[in-house]
Amino acid sequence: MPSYKAPVDDTLFLLKDVFDFDRYGNLPRFAEAPIDVVEAVLSEAGKFAEKVLQPLNRSGDEEGCTRDSSGNVATPEGFKEAYKAYVEGGWVGLAGDPAYGGQGLPHFLAVALSEYVIAANLSFAMYPGLTNGAAAALWVHGDDALKRTYLPKMTTGEWTGTMNLTEPHCGTDLGLIKTKAVRQGDGSFAITGQKIFISAGEHDMAENIIHLVIARIEGAPAGTKGISLFLAPKFLVNADGSLGARNAVVCGSIEHKMGIHGNSTAVLNYDGAKAWLIGEENRGLNAMFVMMNAARLGVAVQGLGLSEVAYQNAAAYAKDRLQGRSLTGAKEPGKPADPIIVHPDVRRMLLEIRAFNEAARALMVWVALSADEALESPDPAAKRAADDRIGLLTPIIKGVFTDVGFANAVKAQQVLGGHGYIAQSGMEQFVRDARITMIYEGANGVQALDLVGRKLPKDGGRAVTAFFGEVSAFLAENKGDAALAPYLAPVKAALGKLQQATMWLMQNGMRNPDNAGAASHDYMHLFGLTALAFMWARIAKAVLARQAKGKSNEALDSKLALAKFFNARMLPEASAHLARLSSGAETLMALPAAAF
Ligand SMILES: Cc1cc2nc3c(=O)[nH]c(=O)nc-3n(C[C@H](O)[C@H](O)[C@H](O)COP(=O)(O)OP(=O)(O)OC[C@H]3O[C@@H](n4cnc5c(N)ncnc54)[C@H](O)[C@@H]3O)c2cc1C
Repeated sequence: MPSYKAPVDDTLFLLKDVFDFDRYGNLPRFAEAPIDVVEAVLSEAGKFAEKVLQPLNRSGDEEGCTRDSSGNVATPEGFKEAYKAYVEGGWVGLAGDPAYGGQGLPHFLAVALSEYVIAANLSFAMYPGLTNGAAAALWVHGDDALKRTYLPKMTTGEWTGTMNLTEPHCGTDLGLIKTKAVRQGDGSFAITGQKIFISAGEHDMAENIIHLVIARIEGAPAGTKGISLFLAPKFLVNADGSLGARNAVVCGSIEHKMGIHGNSTAVLNYDGAKAWLIGEENRGLNAMFVMMNAARLGVAVQGLGLSEVAYQNAAAYAKDRLQGRSLTGAKEPGKPADPIIVHPDVRRMLLEIRAFNEAARALMVWVALSADEALESPDPAAKRAADDRIGLLTPIIKGVFTDVGFANAVKAQQVLGGHGYIAQSGMEQFVRDARITMIYEGANGVQALDLVGRKLPKDGGRAVTAFFGEVSAFLAENKGDAALAPYLAPVKAALGKLQQATMWLMQNGMRNPDNAGAASHDYMHLFGLTALAFMWARIAKAVLARQAKGKSNEALDSKLALAKFFNARMLPEASAHLARLSSGAETLMALPAAAF
C-alpha cells in the first residue's frame, strides 16, 4: 500500500529562504498570514492530506463513481464524509474573499495546500479545485446579484462548481460549439445542448452544483467571437437562498476511463436549462479564461503532486528491496543481497524524479506568490510584472509539469520492477491518474502553441524579455560568489540556448507559421528546463547561505547534490531541444496526409 508525507518543510524552506517571504509583507492578505500562521496552516493541511485523503485514494480508484438510472452519481465510499470535513475545516475557502465567507488568506497558501491534497488523492482534489476555479470566474465577471446568490456557498465549498466547455465534436477548437442559449423575457437564458467529459459534473458530495457553461446566444457570430458564459445551477435557488426546483440539466452517463476513477466525468444534457449570463455577451471565453488559467496552474500542480507521491514510494521501496550486489562490492554483506538503491541506474531514476520535484515546487511557489502580487501589489510596476510572469509561465508549467509528472510516475513504477505493475503497489494508479493531466485543461500540444503563438509576442515580447532580465540580473548580482559559481554557469548556458531559440522563432515563425508549430513542444520544454535550472541556482544560494550561518541540515545539504545532478544529467537535454526546434518544420510536413 502506498503512503504519503506532505513536504511541508520543503515548502517552508522555499518561502522563507528562497523567496524571502518577508518581501511580500506589503500585500494586504499577508497581514493575516505571518510565517508562523503559514506554518500552522500548511502542517494541518499536510496532516489532513496524509490521514484523511490518502487512505481513500486506492479504495476510491477501485470503487469508482456509479450512476443510477435517474442520473444520480454516487462517489466512492468515504468521499462524502471527507469532503464534509474538508469544507468544515475551511480548506475550500482558504483564499476566498471574506466578503463571501472566505478566509482571505494569500493565494499561495491555497496552491501549496493543493499540492498535498492532489498527491494524497487527485480524484478528490478535483472537486474543490474546480469549485475554486468556478468561484474565481464568477467573482471577477459576475454581476452583484449572481455573486450574492452563489458565491457564499461556492466559496465555502458547500456547493461545488464545474467548467462546461467540451462538446462531442470539439474540445480544443471551442469556436465550433453548438450549445445554444435562448433569451427569456426575465433576464435569464434557456440552455440546450450536450457537454461531455465534465469533471465533477454530477455527484453526491454537495447539495447543489453550479455549472459554468459556454454557449452561443441565438444570432451570435460564428466562431469564438460568438461564445458567452453562463451559470446554470443543478437546483434553482429561491429568493431566500433555499433550494428550489431541479434545473433541466441531467447527467446522461459517466465515463469509464483510464484513471481518476473517484472523480465523476459526466455527460451533461441541457434541455432548456435556466441560466444567467456571466460577464458580457459574446465575451464568454474571456470570462472563462479566469477559470482556465486558475485551472491550468491547478493541473500543473497535479503533475508535481503525483510525481512527488510516486517518488516517495519508489524511494522507500528502493531502500528495502534486496536484489543483486553493488558493482563496487557488497554494501550489506550480512544480507542475501544489497538493496537496489546501490545500483546507479536505480539512483538515476530516483534522482531524475526528485531533482525535478524540488525545483518544480520552487517554480510553483514563485508563480503562486506572483499571483498574490498580481492581485494586490500597491506598486503598479510590480503588479504588472507579476501578471506578465504568470501569463508567460502558465502554459509552460502546465505542459512541462504534466509531461514530466507522467514520465516520472512511469519511472517510479519502473523502480518497483514487476511489483510496480501490480495494482496492490499503487504505482500503476499514479501512472493512470497522471496521464489525464497532459490532456485536459488544453492538451499539452496546445499549451506549447499558446506559448509560442500568444504569450511570446504579447505586448511586444514584454513578459519574455522581463523573464530573461530577471535571470540575467540574478546571474549578474551573484557573479562574484565563488561557492555559487558552479550553479550559475549552467543557468547562463541554458539561458543562452533559450534566447537563441527565441530569436530563431522570431525569424522563422513569422515567415512560416508551421515553423512555430513544429518548434513549440521543444521550445516549451527548453523554457521549462531553463526555469528549473534557475530555480536550482536560487535554491543553492539559499542553502549556501544557511550553511554559512551553520543553520543547514542534511535535507537541505542534499539539495546541492541534487542541483549538481540536475545540471550534469538533465539540463543537457536543452541542447537537444534547441537542435530539434531549429531544424524547422520541413521534416514534419514532408509526408502528405495520405501517406500516414
Ligand atoms: C477525464 C477528463 C476530464 C475532463 N474534464 C473536463 C471538464 O471538466 N470540462 C471540460 O469542458 N472539458 C473537460 N475535459 C475535456 C478536455 O479538456 C479535452 O478532452 C481536451 O481539451 C482536448 O480536447 P479533445 O478531447 O476534443 O481533443 P482534440 O481537440 O480533438 O485534440 C486532439 C489532439 O489534437 C491536438 N490538437 C488539436 N488542435 C490542435 C491545434 N490547433 N494545434 C496543434 N494540435 C492540436 C491536441 O493537442 C490533441 O493532442 C475532460 C476530459 C477528460 C478525458
